[in-house]
Amino acid sequence: MITTQDGSQLLIDLGMFQGPKEITDLNYLPLKFNPSQVKGVFLTHAHLDHCGRLPLLVFGGFAGKIYMTAATAALMELILTDAAKVAQEKIDYVPLYNPDDVQKVLDMVEIVDYDHEVAVGTFRITFKDAGHILGSACIEIVDTQDNKKIIFSGDLGNTPEDIGCHGINVW
Ligand SMILES: [Zn+2]
Repeated sequence: MITTQDGSQLLIDLGMFQGPKEITDLNYLPLKFNPSQVKGVFLTHAHLDHCGRLPLLVFGGFAGKIYMTAATAALMELILTDAAKVAQEKIDYVPLYNPDDVQKVLDMVEIVDYDHEVAVGTFRITFKDAGHILGSACIEIVDTQDNKKIIFSGDLGNTPEDIGCHGINVW
């Protein structure tokens, strides 16, 4: 979460905690921010530990857009839909959300291309190829009010493969 002096907020990723029960229990804690105050959400890539709790934004009143590359959107749809179905089939697990909630997330998706600047409020955001999985990105954020730049790497690389999605239109 990035919060500027005027209270504007941007969120990068909202992943699912995965692992033993003491870790997965963290998924049920209330969010530490008010989703209705968030101006935009930016997703680095589609792995569940980065996108798995995005549907919780819907419950919290988030009404903005969730920005990602086209390949990330295509993969995220598969991964969130699968996560929701698997959760419904487990008997010892209370689902965090259902497939209908996933659809609400998909309806908020805004596709961005690598290396093309997006304006959200006073922020200027650019996705850069991270080479981690198809569609993955580092996210460069410039706050024009404070004249500060932050680069959020996300997960990087997949040595020695070079995986990006330049020119692929899958969404
Ligand atoms: Zn990853």
